[in-house]
Amino acid sequence: MAAPWAAAPPEEPLAREAALLAVDAALLAGVLMRTQEEPGASQVVSYAPFTLLPSAVPSALFEQAYAVQQDFNLLVDAISQNKEFLERTLASTIKVDDFTARLFRIYTQVLEEGLAQSVFLGINRSDYMFDCGADGTPALKQIEINTIAASFGGLTSRTPAVHRQVLKMLGRTEEASRLLPNNPAQGLALGIAKAWELYGSQSAVVMFLVEEVQRNIFDQRCVENELWNRNIRVIRKRFRDVFEKGSLDDARRLYIDGQEVAVVYYREGYVPQNYDPQNWEARLLLERSRAVKCPDIATQLAGTKKVQQELTRPGTLEKLLPDQAASVARIRATFAGLYSLDLGEEGDKMAAKAIADPDCFVLKPQREGGGNNLYGEELRHVLEKIKDSPERTSYILMDKIKPRPSKNYLLRPHTPLKVSECISELGIFGVYVRQGKELVLNESAGHLLRTKAIEHADGGVAAGVAVLDTPYLV
Ligand code: ADP
Ligand code: MG
Repeated sequence: MAAPWAAAPPEEPLAREAALLAVDAALLAGVLMRTQEEPGASQVVSYAPFTLLPSAVPSALFEQAYAVQQDFNLLVDAISQNKEFLERTLASTIKVDDFTARLFRIYTQVLEEGLAQSVFLGINRSDYMFDCGADGTPALKQIEINTIAASFGGLTSRTPAVHRQVLKMLGRTEEASRLLPNNPAQGLALGIAKAWELYGSQSAVVMFLVEEVQRNIFDQRCVENELWNRNIRVIRKRFRDVFEKGSLDDARRLYIDGQEVAVVYYREGYVPQNYDPQNWEARLLLERSRAVKCPDIATQLAGTKKVQQELTRPGTLEKLLPDQAASVARIRATFAGLYSLDLGEEGDKMAAKAIADPDCFVLKPQREGGGNNLYGEELRHVLEKIKDSPERTSYILMDKIKPRPSKNYLLRPHTPLKVSECISELGIFGVYVRQGKELVLNESAGHLLRTKAIEHADGGVAAGVAVLDTPYLV
């Protein structure tokens, strides 16, 4: 089912008028991003890209995605505590993928020393597309789960107001009133605040570990402001600052600039480009510390594509979540086909299948942040080249999800207005806190809808491909 406006979206000159109103509403509501030209300062800012119109989301699938979020929180948390599973699952990957190997080395090193950290905070976002079956019925299929630096929980809370106004301008007041409020930043901050409280030092701060260049700073500020509102002090530091000014005391309490850090919230550190030798050292220092890392390195590893693929093997979920059959069933229902490309018969068979039929698969390396996956002819070409080499093991293969496209306008600064055929990806934020073995908080914290033109196979909002959207439940 589509949104009532998707079959015939407004045409010129109405579309232009609506876009002008939408952009100003977005700026007023705080759907903001620093500009490409001036990414290091907030003197000149623009709007984060967004759709002119809200996109349809089947309400049953929306509810299903929310209903499974606490299960996914449990699962990620269980994986992060299961050394045997992580070791076995990542064994082949770390032989060929240097980045995963380095993360894994820190993980092992920290375990050998013994964990100083006793409070754990997970913030994740599970992303889905609506796969269109042969009979046209859409099904919820997980694309991936992000266990580090899951973004846009701040800006996404500001798009419903913008889309409400656009719908009203187009004479759709009733539909406007049906757009749901949504505030992930608040839920994320609640988790951070809980972890801060359990850490147990009134004077300790929350440290946002941020990129060198922070174009998406306003999204982070939404979470940050929620913490200031609770009288929790927030500092923003880069790996470089940690390397230069970070230290541990005898009890492995983390200090930076003389301030004790209770919680480290990573908004960076998920791609190889984030690390030079000093940054790796800083990462190790943080992981060794008593501070609550969001995520700790084990939880980051739990979010790798290789782990995602291994989870689909029969019996694996049951072992990770024993006696939780209902959770297991809800989780499994969202899985698409995922396949190992490890050397051996199973990998050979799948590689051959994908080469024969590349449009039915996506080839994924162990990378985050969009723009890394391979599709179609490129997939075939790469797989043919590496099919007999161990390099194959650094990838996984996934069934390609095929959602039904709908028409929309994607609004971006300096970009001409035109109708695009679009598909959407729904993300649900999850937050949990564990103290020792006891889970003290396990929640879903809101959603994010991102939409992109079908000509782009891959890429998120930060990568300049997808744009922010608001779900219109049908
Ligand atoms: P990343 O960690 O880079 O975000 P994802 O697995 O989320 O990696 O893939 C990036 C993008 O590629 C997704 O946002 C989606 O648009 C597209 N994509 C990923 N997997 C599939 C799939 N199985 N079918 C169709 N599109 C996919
Ligand atoms: Mg993704």
